[in-house]
Amino acid sequence: MIHFGGCLCGKVRYEVEGTPSRVGVCHCRYYQLRTGSAFGVSVYFPEDKCAKTSGELEGYSYKTESGNRVKVERCGNCGTSLFWRIDADTYTGVVGIAGGTFDPPTFWYDLHREVFTRTKAEFCSIDAPETHSTHPIYMPEKRDDPRLRGD
Ligand SMILES: [Zn+2]
Repeated sequence: MIHFGGCLCGKVRYEVEGTPSRVGVCHCRYYQLRTGSAFGVSVYFPEDKCAKTSGELEGYSYKTESGNRVKVERCGNCGTSLFWRIDADTYTGVVGIAGGTFDPPTFWYDLHREVFTRTKAEFCSIDAPETHSTHPIYMPEKRDDPRLRGD
């Protein structure tokens, strides 16, 4: 099964094959800032099941409180963030895809878990099989300032 997606302006297009290895809703501040919204929808696929078919990406990277580097790629034209990679063991060989960028029916995949509910907006009501106040691999080695930590 092939699914297609892309950015707002339509220049970046991608396709994925099969089903995601994991799908999460993340309420962390990093994703709230990346999306400009209340949460991010993260659809993880093995690298070899996801292919960009057109468009140019530009990158931005940051280090999380746990010391993991997150490399985000967004459309160089419209700025939609589409992909990211996290240099932590549990994310080796997988690419995160922004869940709202799939073509309709956009939300065709099943949600596995909800993470970083400590910074969840009160108006959000999401029904996930698994919920975590932070993240299963959260192990802070530094303390972000309140703007990024959310307290
Ligand atoms: Zn674009």
